[in-house]
Amino acid sequence: MEDIEHFAKAMKLIDADGRRLDGRKFNELRPIRIEAGVLRRADGSAYMEWGGNKVLAAVYGPREAHPRHLQDPARALVQCRYNMAPFSVTDRKRPGPDRRSVEISKVISEAFSSVVFAEQFPRTSVDIFIEVLQADAGTRCAGLTAASVALADAGVPMRDLVASCASGKIDGVVCLDLNKDEDNFGDADCPTAVVPRTGEIVLLQMDGHLTSDEFEKAMDLSIDAARRIYDLQRDALRRRYSVTLEDILKESPPVPSPMQPEGRLPSEDDFGPEGI
Ligand code: UDP
Repeated sequence: MEDIEHFAKAMKLIDADGRRLDGRKFNELRPIRIEAGVLRRADGSAYMEWGGNKVLAAVYGPREAHPRHLQDPARALVQCRYNMAPFSVTDRKRPGPDRRSVEISKVISEAFSSVVFAEQFPRTSVDIFIEVLQADAGTRCAGLTAASVALADAGVPMRDLVASCASGKIDGVVCLDLNKDEDNFGDADCPTAVVPRTGEIVLLQMDGHLTSDEFEKAMDLSIDAARRIYDLQRDALRRRYSVTLEDILKESPPVPSPMQPEGRLPSEDDFGPEGI
């Protein structure tokens, strides 16, 4: 234990040029890729890669809520299950829910409950499934961001998408989007989720300690990053739903002209007694 503490103190997370272990500056995000509509059976889905994180989100509903005693006659339930695959982390993760995944599922459900127009769908549930296939810190932010695209892909009416990002403190410097080493050996991590159009905060957590100045800096970084992530979310949905002339032609190729091989038009003799 002492060895680890000594190692953590000796480990430099930011070099003399202000670069982090993976070469990023304090306000840089890891590379992000989002694809919408990747699963056929779900009503809506999305896949996201965010640095070393790989996350799938699937959405079902609004559909009749089960068991029935959970139904709310005034609104839809927004339920989320966040799950980490056993192979998603270095040490095999024991399958099934644990305290951490129950907590993350709860805060993500609450974040979406405040943006979905739940009162339009009484007695139903909107079910969100987040599967973490590979984890490298920031999986709740990646899961929430992907789930938001999956909800839009499912056509669930919402006030806006939700975009999420964390900021924290490493080597005494406030930085955006911590990776696993920074999360392990850093001083604080503060995941945030934002409704970009209104600037409303729908998720805010903190692990570690920040002064109020540091907290404000972290929030500024996260909110600015959420706007960039929002653009990527909308791009993914545009790619999914924009239709080009090429796509239309692929779906229904033009009907071949009725010309015969020799270049003559078909005559009545070319068809049987019942016509074509
Ligand atoms: N992690 C792990 N095993 C676990 C839970 C977490 O190795 O059982 C790792 C994983 O890489 C995760 C990181 O620790 O992304 C940070 O976890 P945290 O609880 O801070 O949540 P996250 O940052 O992923 O939202």
